[in-house]
Amino acid sequence: MKLLVPVKRVVDYNVKVRVRPDGTGVETANVKMSMNPFDEIAVEEAVRLKEKGVATEVVAVSIGPSQAQEQIRTALAMGADRGILVEAEGVVEPIAVAKILKAIVAKEGPQLVIMGKQAIDDDMNATGQMLAALLGWGQGTFANKVEIADGAANVTREVDGGVETVRLVLPAVVTTDLRLNEPRYASLPNIMKARKKPIETVKPADLGVDTTPRLKVIKVEEPPKRQAGVKVGSAAELVSKLRTEAKVI
Ligand code: AMP
Repeated sequence: MKLLVPVKRVVDYNVKVRVRPDGTGVETANVKMSMNPFDEIAVEEAVRLKEKGVATEVVAVSIGPSQAQEQIRTALAMGADRGILVEAEGVVEPIAVAKILKAIVAKEGPQLVIMGKQAIDDDMNATGQMLAALLGWGQGTFANKVEIADGAANVTREVDGGVETVRLVLPAVVTTDLRLNEPRYASLPNIMKARKKPIETVKPADLGVDTTPRLKVIKVEEPPKRQAGVKVGSAAELVSKLRTEAKVI
């Protein structure tokens, strides 16, 4: 069984993002970029399925600039077998990513696509759902447990106030939540080995997909600055401030 794992190049989660002076988005020049954290969880899950003998091949795919090869290499160092870079400059919106992934699914024939529940750059939380709809496949979103048996995936999902388990007949799409697993760090020997693993490069047009954006960002703003706190001398003073100044009690 082949697994497809889409991995997105995003601003590293440790970077404090700054809004571009013209308010059109966040600054990405000279900023550390990494694999989207939810996609690391997806790669880890796929590699574990391969290690258990459930999967035979793990293919990592990224849609982005040529530098997105770095994120594919990270996936390869974690244990993926080969990569596909769909080279595209600028913003590629979820619907275009989903169409590209659909075309790759048609070419590769995976039984399962495991991807992040959302990319931490624009927090769309849409691509997995769109891909499942375009393919007409079942979807198990926000997964915190995935078990494959008898041609189906049993996916435990994090839902409001609890968990829900769904059974998806394969092929299917799964999106990962934070508690699914703890991704491994790639070891140095595996990073070296990953350099020799193949990465194929294609363009969206080769797959028949137009990536022209359909959404227009009107304005991006920083959240308002928080005011400095004050130290109070006693519980009575705290209660009085909460009552008369903050007016919360
Ligand atoms: P989103 O719907 O944008 O929040 O992204 C959800 C998931 O879709 C991500 O965690 C990735 O697995 C996948 N994805 C989105 N954009 C890309 C991209 N440009 N390249 C590869 N995977 C992507």
